[in-house]
Amino acid sequence: MNNMQIETIVVGPFEVNCYLIFDAVSKNGVIIDPGGDDYKIAEGIDRLGFTPRAILLTHGHGDHIAAVESLKGKFNLPLYVGQGEEPLLASPSANISSFFGFEITCPPADFSVGDSQVVDIAGLKFTVFATPGHSPGSVCYFIGNSLFCGDVLFNGSIGRTDLPGGNYQQLIDSIDKYILSLPDDIICYPGHGPITTVGSERKNNPFLAGRRFV
Ligand SMILES: [Zn+2]
Repeated sequence: MNNMQIETIVVGPFEVNCYLIFDAVSKNGVIIDPGGDDYKIAEGIDRLGFTPRAILLTHGHGDHIAAVESLKGKFNLPLYVGQGEEPLLASPSANISSFFGFEITCPPADFSVGDSQVVDIAGLKFTVFATPGHSPGSVCYFIGNSLFCGDVLFNGSIGRTDLPGGNYQQLIDSIDKYILSLPDDIICYPGHGPITTVGSERKNNPFLAGRRFV
């Protein structure tokens, strides 16, 4: 998508990357992982001058959902989450926030999305990859040359799998199947830390040594 623009807003105590993605011509966009600091996200939307049409979650952990309720209400947005992740939204223990001393919940999802599903938000077409391992219903959203990969893959690292619902082998298999199968120039937008590319992770990520080469 030639007109697609992406802005990163770092939010909350766990420094989650909230992504604002919008079409510069139609001015329609989405919010991925509004994990806190709703005012910062709303300011970004205002500054960029687009109309949000949906909230997409890569997964349901507390640090990725804390501003859902307020932004969903403010902009009247439908909420999307991966299949299997729905129970995390209403439960501070399931979404791990209680583990870190917070009691975070958000409203139920309007849509749960499954593998290979295409989510069309006002012309922005995201392909869903079901990538469990960090959490049971983790998904990545693929659009253009951009992959929003949540806490599945980071620049030089991978998501943790020691939290409830995590599974190391599942995570590695998810990365192998869905991310390392993409071309090197695909840009990965992770849930925390700097962006990277599939090629860079294929080459440099110590957790992926010996994995698939296209
Ligand atoms: Zn997480």
